[in-house]
Amino acid sequence: RLAVMSLILVAIIFVFGLIRGENITEMFLTSVSLAVAIIPEGLPAVVTIALALGARRMLKRHALIRKLPAVETLGSVTTICSDKTGTLTENRMTVTFLGLAGQRIEIKEPYAQITSLLDGNQSRLKFAENSPLEPSMALILTGSALCNNALLKERNGAGAPQTLGDPTEVALVVAADRFGLGKDALEQTLPRIAEAPFDSDRKRMTTIHQIQDQEVMVDVEDENGALFPSCLLMRPSALLPHTSPYIVFTKGAVDSMLEVTRYVWNNDQMEPLTPEWEQQIRDGNNRLASTGTRVLGVAFRLLDAPPEAGTELSLEQDLAFVGLVGMLDPARPEARTAVQTCAQAGIRTVMITGDHPLMAKHIAEELDISVNGRVLTGKELNRLSVEELEGQVESVAVYARVSPQQKLKIVEALQNRGQLVSMTGDGVNDAPALSKADIGVAMGITGTDVAKEAADMVLLNDNFATIVAAIEEGRVIYDNIRKFIRYSLTGNTSGVVIMLFAPLLMLPLPLLPAQILWINLLADGLLALALSVEPAESNVMRRPPYPPGESVFSRGVGRDIIWVGTLMGITFLLTGYYYREELGWQNWQTMVFATLAFS
Ligand code: ADP
Ligand code: MG
Repeated sequence: RLAVMSLILVAIIFVFGLIRGENITEMFLTSVSLAVAIIPEGLPAVVTIALALGARRMLKRHALIRKLPAVETLGSVTTICSDKTGTLTENRMTVTFLGLAGQRIEIKEPYAQITSLLDGNQSRLKFAENSPLEPSMALILTGSALCNNALLKERNGAGAPQTLGDPTEVALVVAADRFGLGKDALEQTLPRIAEAPFDSDRKRMTTIHQIQDQEVMVDVEDENGALFPSCLLMRPSALLPHTSPYIVFTKGAVDSMLEVTRYVWNNDQMEPLTPEWEQQIRDGNNRLASTGTRVLGVAFRLLDAPPEAGTELSLEQDLAFVGLVGMLDPARPEARTAVQTCAQAGIRTVMITGDHPLMAKHIAEELDISVNGRVLTGKELNRLSVEELEGQVESVAVYARVSPQQKLKIVEALQNRGQLVSMTGDGVNDAPALSKADIGVAMGITGTDVAKEAADMVLLNDNFATIVAAIEEGRVIYDNIRKFIRYSLTGNTSGVVIMLFAPLLMLPLPLLPAQILWINLLADGLLALALSVEPAESNVMRRPPYPPGESVFSRGVGRDIIWVGTLMGITFLLTGYYYREELGWQNWQTMVFATLAFS
């Protein structure tokens, strides 16, 4: 549009000049120079530099930008869809509950003391005075530690034990270790022969182990708290009644475990999973979840022959349920502040998690995410038609037991309602939702490479507050680009005004081509760059996002360009005209130029 406008204006000025009898070559040069001056050719450079500098500032705040235009889009985000685990919570899981079908042990130590193991405290939990680990309890811990890809590295000296892996799994390995069931020792007796890895759709993980009937080393604590190793406790055959050469362990979300469970392991007996049992397990799960505990179920199954390669998934059936493991993952304190900042900035926070609805609700309330307490589960989501979902998507702030495909559905519904959506994800299956979202955000620590490839931005610290910080930077950059446009086009307008009005007022040519180009070079170049590093306005996170389709000339920018540009142009002409006698007409262009440069 600017190009068309400038061509028309330049043609008019050219014709005026000819009518006035100016030299045709000079008029042509002037017109071309003016055309150059009208177009803000500094804009692409300024935008690129502003985005690049912005990306650097974002990096300092732990947001790595993968696609430069995302910097600007960030400023217009209206809805942030965020994972729960690790993003809104700390992802420092600690097992606080072990429950069997029949009895349960609650780990009652205060949270700080429990986490201290990860921080270097060496003492292991004394779970019961002098009592040997019950077989069912040992089985649940063994299953949790073996159906698990986390590592607890050897503790050497007083240093903190090094852990590696998914925090959920780390918590399980640590818990088993604290009860004396070291993962290394377990793997000697029950070496893994196959695995069906965890995925967020099944919400289960399965491993198959060969049973080498040796004794498992179990460390026991004496009265003084000193550790001594003993190997009296168990052989796998002591845990299980009948010997089979292979055992399958499955762990996962309790509801999805119950879909493939047929028995309950109660008091070392295999019992059928009756509706009463199922109800009891679900009740226990809900009770824990409503206090914000993340719950996994553990089950096993005996095998007589090793599975053929590729058939591991088919082993996830006819399982025997052993019990529940509950773990706590505190909400990030800074996430709460960030959610409030978003609310002030007119951005809605939506939590999307694979976890239990009650657990999701608990965390959402803690972080002030949910205003109406509504939670939509993946199952309910599947039943909704596209239109129905679009009707609800702007009022629901918490989604639970959601699969990655449903994330995509949520993004689409939000976008159809005109929202600009940022979506987080870590898994391979999250990639479609990440690329569909206006801003796909991948986790830097827990994220897979596929998720990172699909994302526009990577959170180096996996923290929700980082998304909000990046949005703030994005808004500053967009503001600065608008400031540049306002500044640059105002100056250009003033140039057009003098070139247009001077011939009408029968004044000589006000600017030479070289003057036009020179002022243009300075104004659109270096001076303009200064605007791209302007600091944030004080209200940057206290105003609603600009609607995505809004023109850059809205909110007074276009109006200011016209009236300030005209005012400036008239001032130049008047100043030049005022001094025409004193300086003579041959210097009038100098006067106009000097005024223009100073303005
Ligand atoms: P989120 O990251 O939103 O918590 P996930 O998809 O990671 O959701 O997990 C969904 C559910 O799957 C969890 O509630 C938990 O029950 C189960 N789960 C998570 N991680 C594992 C794992 N490594 N092995 C087995 N089950 C898991
Ligand atoms: Mg997860």
